[in-house]
Amino acid sequence: MTKAELLSILRQDITDDEKAELILALPRIRELDEDAFIEAPGELHPAPEVEVIKTWLINDFHRHLRGCCIYCAFTDREESRNGRAMVASIGFPDRYPDLKGYDFILKVNRAFWDSLDLDLKMRKAVIDHELCHIRIEDGRYYLGPHEIGEFSGVIERHGAFTDHLKQIGRFLLSDLIADEEV
Ligand SMILES: [Zn+2]
Repeated sequence: MTKAELLSILRQDITDDEKAELILALPRIRELDEDAFIEAPGELHPAPEVEVIKTWLINDFHRHLRGCCIYCAFTDREESRNGRAMVASIGFPDRYPDLKGYDFILKVNRAFWDSLDLDLKMRKAVIDHELCHIRIEDGRYYLGPHEIGEFSGVIERHGAFTDHLKQIGRFLLSDLIADEEV
């Protein structure tokens, strides 16, 4: 299957079962048709699995990004921000002349990605997080900050003291309950 064929399938309305089947085929897709991806510049390597999951997530949850050009790459470089190792990042591709025409580059640390084995829930969450950084205003894309930044100690001592924390608390609770019911 070529990248173009794969992407055209993802753009159709397919059932969740069919999507799951497609995603389970990802380790095989990794070997396929790498030529369809542009040569990854410098320390970057093509990341077709990330490309597939990104396309899936855009179709399901980020339709405003359908016209956005995001180059997905694996990197072997350990990058950190504020002393914490970064597993993935999204940024402007200015440093990479080969990526002219792309709006963003989405980089994923390969060692981290491989350590997830086939944990699709985690893989999707990582890519979904990066896509949430992209906002659009007056037809121009920009990168926005996280909606929530709080210390665990503050939440431990004062609980969900804002409406936003309350909302997140409810999401987490229903997720934990759903997990227990399985
Ligand atoms: Zn982030």
